[in-house]
Amino acid sequence: MPMPLQPKPIEDSVVMARYPFLPQANIAIKAHMEANNVDLESLVDTDWLEDVRVRARVRLAESVTLKEGIDTATAFDIHTPYGQMVECLSFLYAMVIVCASFDERLLGKWAEGESSRADQLWGTESPTSFQRLAETYLSDVRMGQEGFWEVPMTDFIEICPKISGSYWRLPNRPVRQGWVILSPASNENSQQRLSRLLKERIRTKLIEDCRNRMELMDEAFVGRMAEEVGNMVGLLKHHASTEISFTSADEEDWPPCMREITTQLSQSINVNHVGRVFLASISRVIGLTVDEAQALFVNAPDYSAETTRYQLNHVYENEYTPAGCPKLQINACCPVSRGDVKSDLCNREWMDHPLKYLRARQRAKHREEQQAQPAEN
Ligand code: SF4
Repeated sequence: MPMPLQPKPIEDSVVMARYPFLPQANIAIKAHMEANNVDLESLVDTDWLEDVRVRARVRLAESVTLKEGIDTATAFDIHTPYGQMVECLSFLYAMVIVCASFDERLLGKWAEGESSRADQLWGTESPTSFQRLAETYLSDVRMGQEGFWEVPMTDFIEICPKISGSYWRLPNRPVRQGWVILSPASNENSQQRLSRLLKERIRTKLIEDCRNRMELMDEAFVGRMAEEVGNMVGLLKHHASTEISFTSADEEDWPPCMREITTQLSQSINVNHVGRVFLASISRVIGLTVDEAQALFVNAPDYSAETTRYQLNHVYENEYTPAGCPKLQINACCPVSRGDVKSDLCNREWMDHPLKYLRARQRAKHREEQQAQPAEN
């Protein structure tokens, strides 16, 4: 079910300034531009618009560097016309920088930053205001008998595959006459849960809008944005080089349980169901493709290319989370608990998940590389 083509109007100028990504905010953004005689060209270098550009850079920098997205607080008072203008136009200017960069990674970070900020703020809105915001991104929404938000099953089914965790799987959600009930969970109330769902629609819409705008970018204008874009892409690259990513995991970083399961499979030793699902799910998390994951299974005694492919696709599509150490230990998948392998890391008190092992290995390696750098120069 798509978003409503014509969202219900929201005329509150404070709400528009707080959430300038809303489709309804287009009118407010245009109105600020007209009232201040501003166009895209003047946004780039008119002196008195420096506050707008600085705020836009903050929006983008926070999108790139902060895990939780753009800070929910702003230095500008959105109850004043000036603060409203800065918030609305800085959103537009940040979007223009992203479009002029033609950089998918920057686009993804910015969309994540704006939508995460919305996720945090919407959870605290009054129910009336929240309902109007939610209606912008859903075909319908209502407050159920138990006081929990409910959304049409069609919307839920379309959005939920993008979110990991068992809460977001339809069989785990109560459904009443075609409405999915978003009951509280994971220390979040019903409104916060729905905000999480809405975040996905906000992100998708931002990416869509930005891609459409990229198509229309004028070459000369892109040239004028070169310095602004260069600074932001530079920040992105710098941040990426200091980020530790699971997707860069080398085989030597793999936890002993993962290494043992792959070794057993390569020697045609049978691995139980828990071990196989673990291997598939951790392969996804560390960024192996389905083809690469499938290659780990080819020597399994009961190997069938078709069945393995089907099962791997199922694990990847449903974003299974790898099992933790206790489950692997109970199911004889942990060589350390059996005493077959010695590992300092696995014997630490805090070790309860193979992903922690991987993260600790990568952190240590990253630190070593950083320390080695001055010596090499
Ligand atoms: S302790 Fe945990 S991480 Fe280490 S081998 Fe066992 S299951 Fe894997």
